[in-house]
Amino acid sequence: MRTVYVNGDYQSETEAKVSVFDRGFLMADGVYEVTSVLGGKLIDFDGHVARLERSLGALDIANPLSRDALLGIHRELVARNAIDEGLVYLQITRGAPADRDFVFPDPETTSPTVVLFTQSKPGLADNPAAKTGIRIIGIDDIRWGRRDIKTVQLLYPSMGKMMAKRAGADDAWMVEDGFVTEGTSNNAYIVQGDRIVTRPLSSDILSGITRAAVLRFAGEARMEVDERPFTLDEAKAADEAFITSASTFVMPVVEIDGIALGDGSPGPVATRLREIYLEESRKAAI
Ligand code: PMP
Repeated sequence: MRTVYVNGDYQSETEAKVSVFDRGFLMADGVYEVTSVLGGKLIDFDGHVARLERSLGALDIANPLSRDALLGIHRELVARNAIDEGLVYLQITRGAPADRDFVFPDPETTSPTVVLFTQSKPGLADNPAAKTGIRIIGIDDIRWGRRDIKTVQLLYPSMGKMMAKRAGADDAWMVEDGFVTEGTSNNAYIVQGDRIVTRPLSSDILSGITRAAVLRFAGEARMEVDERPFTLDEAKAADEAFITSASTFVMPVVEIDGIALGDGSPGPVATRLREIYLEESRKAAI
């Protein structure tokens, strides 16, 4: 049985409780982070904390915990749940006022709800999907306009994932005004010749922590990166494609809307970036 963290207490997953009036539950009024764990250590922890602070700031929720307090809780949960490979999920909501109301509660009387739990995922780094690659479909991006805030409002991405599953694929890339924004829970890239192409940061997409690291490593390995929007047709004609996220790291994409990319197997750029990412991230893990 898992030990989870709720508002200052470590509790059994079956005992832990959150109010029915919690704004996260009623209004998706909350933000989250997912930090992966390799060899019992946290990957890119400081990047996740920095983004958490940006997300909370954008929603005017006061951050209830310092970086060091958050690190302590992450480490305690990893230890208590004996996580070698897996992830730590963190969610902070605006809290639970006395009643449901569209008006934000007074932060003096309603404090944020903080929940963290672990998910054990043995084999996360050695994921067999990285050897075969994944298949994706294109879907319309009908999400709201502040995708740079990592809110728990994940209904459409979840529906998108189901559309992909029903179509016999693994995931979906969302398209807006003719250009790919991002995957349901990942950033999207194509490779044209020796150039890596990915959409620039804006409020249209989430600023991926893995994206930042991968672009840095690509630069260090003297790979060319173009941060510009690309279309789904460009992607279908690309030499390679891949996604990045905290839980998939770098994952090759081998098929888009039933069209195989290259020879239909993971390409050299994605494969190399995955290796570099895993190696460097393990070294820097805390
Ligand atoms: N875009 C979206 C919409 C996501 O949900 C995620 C993962 N949470 C990402 C990109 C990738 O971000 P990260 O690399 O920080 O996991």
